[in-house]
Amino acid sequence: MSQSLISMAYIAAAILFILSLSGLSNQETSRRGNYYGMIGMAIAILATVLNPSFTAYGILIIALVIGGVIGARAAFKVEMTQMPELVAVMHSLVGIAAVLVGYANFIDHSSPLAGSEKTIHEVEIYLGVLIGAVTFSGSVIAFGKLSGRIGGKPMLLPGRHWLNLCMLIGVIVLGYMFLHQTEGCCCCGGLGPLLIMTVIALIFGVHMVMAIGGADMPVVVSMLNSYSGWAAAATGFMLSNDLLIVTGALVGSSGAILSYIMCRAMNRNFISVIAGGFGGGATGGGTAAVIEGDVTPVNAVETAKLLLEAKSIVIVPGYGMAVAQAQHAVNEITKLLRGKGKTVRFGIHPVAGRMPGHMNVLLAEAKVPYDIVFEMDEINEDFPKVDVAIVIGANDIVNPSAMNDPTSPIAGMPVLEVWKSHITIAMKRSMASGYAGVGNPLFVMENTRMLFGDAKETLQAVLKELNANS
Ligand code: NDP
Repeated sequence: MSQSLISMAYIAAAILFILSLSGLSNQETSRRGNYYGMIGMAIAILATVLNPSFTAYGILIIALVIGGVIGARAAFKVEMTQMPELVAVMHSLVGIAAVLVGYANFIDHSSPLAGSEKTIHEVEIYLGVLIGAVTFSGSVIAFGKLSGRIGGKPMLLPGRHWLNLCMLIGVIVLGYMFLHQTEGCCCCGGLGPLLIMTVIALIFGVHMVMAIGGADMPVVVSMLNSYSGWAAAATGFMLSNDLLIVTGALVGSSGAILSYIMCRAMNRNFISVIAGGFGGGATGGGTAAVIEGDVTPVNAVETAKLLLEAKSIVIVPGYGMAVAQAQHAVNEITKLLRGKGKTVRFGIHPVAGRMPGHMNVLLAEAKVPYDIVFEMDEINEDFPKVDVAIVIGANDIVNPSAMNDPTSPIAGMPVLEVWKSHITIAMKRSMASGYAGVGNPLFVMENTRMLFGDAKETLQAVLKELNANS
C-alpha cells in the first residue's frame, strides 16, 4: 500500500470515528454510530498492517490472535452489570500500552535524533509515560472499586493535597533531569528519572482514585476515559502515527466533555474532580444518616391495584433493574398500562446504574419507545402531578437527603424527586443502602410503599395481576 493511500485510509477512518461519536450521542442513531466506529477501526488496522515500512508480521499475527480471543471472550462472557468494570480494565490497558511504548521508544536508538527534534521526542516520551502510568494505576483502582473488591469509602490521607503537590513538583524536577540527561551519569542517561517518575505517577493514580467517594465514581469513570484518550494520543506522537493522535484526541476530549456533564449532573466541581479529589469539600463528607421510621410494605396485588387506579405513572429505574434484568418485564407492564390509556413515562438520572447511559441502553434493548424516556431535568418538575412513581432497584438517585441533609455524603447531588408524587412504590430486596452507602429516608416516608423482592420476579407478579384484571 502506498503512503498516499495509507494517508487517505487514515483520513477516512478519522472521519468515521467522528461520525461514530456523533451517532452515539443519540439513542436512535447509536447503532449506526457503532457501525461507523467498527468500519473506521477495521480500515485503521488494515492501513497500519499494510504499511510498507511494517515487516514484523509474525509478532503482529500472534498479538492479533491473542487480543482477538481475549476481546471476543470478554464480549460474550461479561454481563451487562459488569460493563463498567470491563471499561475500567480497557482503560488500564491503554495506559500500560502508553507506558510500554514510551520505554520502548526511549531504549530504541535505531534512528538517532538530534537538537530540537530529540528534545520534542523526549518530551513526548516523558508525557506519554506519565499519562499512561496515571491512567493505568487509576483504572486498576477504579476496577477494584466498581467490582466491589475495594470499598467505596474515600481514602482521605492527612495532608493529601500536599502529597499531591509534592508529587507534582517531583514530576516536574524529574522531567527537567530527564531532558538534561547526560550519557553515563548516575541517572543512567535519563532512565533513572523516567523510572522514578513512573513510580510517582503510579502512586498518584492510586491516590487520586482512592480519594474519590462511591457516589462520585461516575466522574472517575469518564475522567479515566478521557485520560486513556490522552495516553493514546501521546502514544500516537511517540510512534508518529497521525490516526492514533486524532483518535486519542477524540477520546480524550469527548471523555473530558462527558466528565464535565457528569460533574454538572452531580453538582460537583469539574476541576476539583479532574485534579483528583482536590477540594473534595463539594461533598458533604459526613456520615450516612440513620433512617428511623416504619416502612409500609405492599404486595404485587396491591401494586397492580394502585397502578390501575393511576392516570399518570413515572418509572424510575436504577442499578437494581440491571442486576435483576427486569427491563423486559418493565416494557411489558408499560405496554399494558399505555394500552389502558394511562400516561407512562420514564425518568432517567444521569448517574443511574453503573455507567453513563446504563438505563437508556437497557430500556432500548427491551424496546421501550424513546419518546417516553425523559432525562431528570425534563421530568423532575412534574412529580407533584404524578399519581404513582415506581422506583425499580434505584436508591441513591432518589435519596431526598441529597437535597435536605447538608452533612450527607451525597449532599448537593440533584436527585429525582419521586417523593413529591402522590404515591411512590419502591422495589428492592431489602432496606440495604445503594452504591454510596447512604441511608434513604424515602423508604420510610408516609406516601412510600415498599415492594420487596427481586425486581424481575416482583414485576412479573405485578404483570400477572394486571393481566388478570384486564
Ligand atoms: P444504587 O446503587 O444506589 O441502588 C441500587 C439498589 O438496587 C440497591 O439499593 C439494591 O437494594 C437494589 N437492588 C439490587 N439488586 C436488585 C434486584 N435484583 N432487585 C431489586 N432491587 C435490587 O443505584 P442507583 O442506580 O440508584 O444509583 C447509582 C449509584 O451508582 C450512584 O451512587 C452513582 O454515583 C453510582 N455510580 C454510577 C456510575 C454511572 O456511571 N452511572 C458509575 C459508578 C458508580 P437491595 O440490595 O435492597 O435490593
